[in-house]
Amino acid sequence: MGPRLVVGNWKMHGSRSANRALLDALLKEPVEGVDAAVCAPFPYLGEVSGQLGGSAIAWGAQNVSEHAQGAYTGEVSAAMLREFGCRYVIVGHSERRQLYGETDAQVAAKFAAVRSAGMTPILCVGETLAEREAGRTEEVVARQLGAVAFAEGVLAYEPVWAIGTGKTATPEQAQAVHAFLRKRLPGGTRILYGGSVKAQNAQALFAMPDIDGGLIGGASLVAKEFMDIVKAATK
Ligand code: PEP
Repeated sequence: MGPRLVVGNWKMHGSRSANRALLDALLKEPVEGVDAAVCAPFPYLGEVSGQLGGSAIAWGAQNVSEHAQGAYTGEVSAAMLREFGCRYVIVGHSERRQLYGETDAQVAAKFAAVRSAGMTPILCVGETLAEREAGRTEEVVARQLGAVAFAEGVLAYEPVWAIGTGKTATPEQAQAVHAFLRKRLPGGTRILYGGSVKAQNAQALFAMPDIDGGLIGGASLVAKEFMDIVKAATK
């Protein structure tokens, strides 16, 4: 496996001045032997792209329309993102699935739209607490992954019960699901873990053989936390 990948998901946070300060701080640190990216809210992507241009930190979006163009008020197409030089697009984040009712079929169409525009989708899968407790984790993630014609993308395993809750899967719990997913993916696919990753728990997670990096929510808004996680992922 090549370098690990650490992606910040800013969610619906930030402002022009806060973003500038955050990126200034990130850009002070070296990024070598690891891939790093931030996924910002749509209106900021142009500025984020300008500030990160020529640096070792890539950028991406948090969502995309499954449609190419047309009467879809409020939506943003993959071609629009590509035009700005977007590299990564998160698809199927649990907040999109749960709060906006995104279905497996929609997520699959978004994945395909990102791929055909020449960008790298970061497909999120993960079980709820009730599903885990019912022993259905593998069934759920297999269904979510199986719905997508997965090719040349990044997979993020994000147990819903660990997102923004401060509860992290133990390295062993995450590793077990990653190993299960690995068998269903093309060789060389990077599998990120996401769910309350912090500087303090990153090292132990990244030490697992099938954890190839992280998708980082809350901690990606704090420069030192995020860069300490990036450092922990450095090979
Ligand atoms: C996420 O938003 O993908 C995420 C993992 O959030 P957090 O790190 O805050 O749990």
